[in-house]
This record gives sequence, structure tokens and C-alpha cells, in this order.
Amino acid sequence: MAHSLLHRPLTAEVSDTEATQRLRAIGRRITRLRIAVFKTLLEAEQPLSHPEVQQRLEASETGAIDRVSLYRNLEWLVQNGLAHRVTTDDRIWRFSARREETATQHPHFHCVSCGQVFCLPESSVPVPRLPVDYSMIEMELVVNGVCARCGKEPPQKTSRH
Ligand SMILES: [Zn+2]
Ligand SMILES: [Zn+2]
Repeated sequence: MAHSLLHRPLTAEVSDTEATQRLRAIGRRITRLRIAVFKTLLEAEQPLSHPEVQQRLEASETGAIDRVSLYRNLEWLVQNGLAHRVTTDDRIWRFSARREETATQHPHFHCVSCGQVFCLPESSVPVPRLPVDYSMIEMELVVNGVCARCGKEPPQKTSRH
């Protein structure tokens, strides 16, 4: 698989079975909502915010979703290593399913023009040397910039804050 992460098709059909199997592999209780949330992340072309996941779920067969249940399920996926969370300086958490081709630690790109976030292929970002007795849990690298689509349009001067 080439590093075509930024150009993956807009939707990748993921079967319920595939989502269910990966959840089962963890050996924990799985619910219909959990499968639906995970499937939504697997099918997404890029990390999705909580409201975006909710919109997609509600547009599908699932119907109205309780915000809190959705949040718990997203957290559960992160805790069990099936998804990762991206934090950007707009203070919006976005969630993305872990795919085989994306390394556990990988940088993200945040477009300051359209606000979208993309997973980047792993690159050799040096881990800073830590003081004695400090241990790293994770390191997040977010590159702020302008994505290819926005770069083709004249720059917008609007502030997003
Ligand atoms: Zn953009
Ligand atoms: Zn990512």
C-alpha cells in the first residue's frame, strides 16, 4: 500500500462484519452502537469530530444518537487502541480509526483554511530526550498549514477565532 493517505477515496465501504471482527478481537462486550461508530470511523476519509460522527451516524440507518453514549464509545475505541484522537489548536477533538498502514505514532496536518485534519504517513520525527525518570505516554505532532484544495484558492483572510 503506497502512502496515498491524503488521496484515499472519499468513502471506503467497510462491512459490518469487518468492523465487528476487529471489535471481537479485543474480546470485550460490543454493542450495535459501538460497531456503527467504529464503522463510521473506518469509512471516513480523515479524522472526524464528535458532531461529524454524530451526523454521519444519524444520516445512516442508526437514527438519533445520544451524545453521551457516542462520546463514551469514541473514548472506548481510543482506550482499546482501535482509534486515535487528534487535538488541534482549535480545541476540537477528532477521531480516526487505526488502520494498519498508519503507524501508531504519526503526525497530523491541520488546514487552517478549511479546518480539516488529515493523518500523515509516519515520518522520523525525533523524540525529544526526556529528563531522567520522565516517561513518555504519547507525542502529538500537528502541522498547521494549508491543504492542497485550499491552496488552489486565493488565501482567505478570515480569522477562525
Ligand atoms: Zn483546507
Ligand atoms: Zn491520525
